Amino acid sequence: MQSLRFDNAFARELPADPHSGPQRRQVHGALYSQVQPTPVASPRLIAYSREMAEILGLDVRDIESPQFAQVFGGNALLEGMQPIAVNYGGHQFGSWAGQLGDGRAITLGETVDAQGRRWELQLKGAGPTPYSRTADGRAVLRSSIREFLCSEAMHHLGVPTTRALSLVATGEQVIRDMFYDGRPRAEPGAIVCRVAPSFIRFGNFELPSSRDDLPLLEKLIDFTIRRDFPELIVKPGEERDEAVRAEWFAQVCERTARMVAHWMRVGFVHGVMNTDNMSILGLTIDYGPYGWIDDFDPGWTPNTTDAGTRRYRFGQQPRIAFWNLNRLAAALLPVFSGETPLQEGLQRYIDVYQQCERASVAAKLGLMQCQDEDIELMHALYDLLQRAEVDMTLFFRTLSEIDVLVPSLAPLEHAFYDAHKRDAARAEFDGWLVRYAQRVRTDARPAEERRRAMQAVNPHYVLRNYLAQQAIDLAEQGDDSGVHELLEVMRHPYDDQPGREAFAQKRPDWARTRAGCSMLSCSS
Ligand code: AMP
Ligand code: MG
Repeated sequence: MQSLRFDNAFARELPADPHSGPQRRQVHGALYSQVQPTPVASPRLIAYSREMAEILGLDVRDIESPQFAQVFGGNALLEGMQPIAVNYGGHQFGSWAGQLGDGRAITLGETVDAQGRRWELQLKGAGPTPYSRTADGRAVLRSSIREFLCSEAMHHLGVPTTRALSLVATGEQVIRDMFYDGRPRAEPGAIVCRVAPSFIRFGNFELPSSRDDLPLLEKLIDFTIRRDFPELIVKPGEERDEAVRAEWFAQVCERTARMVAHWMRVGFVHGVMNTDNMSILGLTIDYGPYGWIDDFDPGWTPNTTDAGTRRYRFGQQPRIAFWNLNRLAAALLPVFSGETPLQEGLQRYIDVYQQCERASVAAKLGLMQCQDEDIELMHALYDLLQRAEVDMTLFFRTLSEIDVLVPSLAPLEHAFYDAHKRDAARAEFDGWLVRYAQRVRTDARPAEERRRAMQAVNPHYVLRNYLAQQAIDLAEQGDDSGVHELLEVMRHPYDDQPGREAFAQKRPDWARTRAGCSMLSCSS
């Protein structure tokens, strides 16, 4: 681990809170606070990502050394690490929430890999910070497993995301009221080390702007462009030009559009798209009560905390991302001479999202190009999938196998959850398949090539909620093998993996209403 080199630009270049330590406070005029992780009783490595370890230049001996669990459990620091908690605000469920900040995340430092790429290493659940408000700064094992597995699963699916290096059990208990029903219980605690080039969020800009602290806002904008968007700068100091700032904002819009389009492609529901959970790099960040679509339902959200209005439901994610970008634009407005450049950035979101959606329709259906009628064809399918309760992942994966010379619903029947609904919709599905087969035949693409192309975008394995819950149940009894196996499966989500068919089945009936499988709260 001695090979890790640190270059802590955020801490070095931006204003720090003059006070250190975890005492809860409102922090003005500063973008972060220095705070040490709180040591834990007996850190033990449960799992790690070998791809992430390799990028960071860590070998098996490093990972398996007792020092690794000590460092990534928050009990020790490596030379060059400089732990900080960052100050940010955010709009939560549509309302301004004021100062939030890293309440249980502590960035250990920014390391630079052999290729010169920068990676922030951040512990989640490492103890209280000035931003912990009334909470304890800790994380439970169940939510840490979910974050660890999903970060890596998303990466392997090709979705922009923060990564996870390690999952460490703390050997301590954490008290949580999982159902908010006044019956708290003790649960095992854990810490994930997450990794990203930057953890800066929309909310980092919103907070100084909400306080009319424009010098602080400008420092953060300049820094973000310099460190995280260096390709936008040709000459030193250019980050302060309005045109560069405008292009930066447009890039944020563009990246956000691409990210959300990927979520819609693979059936991922973030669950808490508050502006403090939106990455400036367009990475999926803060895996909380997220979920995966089983039966195709645009109205579904896994988050019970959002059950009332279902603001963050699957089908609404593209609109919410746009709303969030509008909040970011409003926060940035004071440093622009007018609204026009920001409006152009927002338009970029709309344009890029539309392009991505068209590309995704073509790719998911195996078409070489998307024509206007194909959008309608896809929407007709979505409507059918929803009405007939069909598994999204299984349906699209199997669609690649149908014979377009004699289209038939037979090979797709296993994707249906309800035989009555299937039979009621059978004629409509047959009609749709005939249309689809006709359309595919106009493409003059060899069947095998189409099949391969479809399988490269329609995953065979996704991190279904019940699969993660089964791994959690085992781990809570001291058996980590479920986590290891699921991580292995999710490393190759587009491949057929012989012997692992059990991971590519539709959600079993028992999981429909079980907590953790279809319903999750923010309690983590
Ligand atoms: P989240 O819903 O996880 O994005 O968290 C929203 C805010 O609450 C962030 O400022 C978090 O740092 C904070 N927070 C969530 N859980 C905890 C916790 N257990 N201890 C301290 N702060 C927390
Ligand atoms: Mg958050």
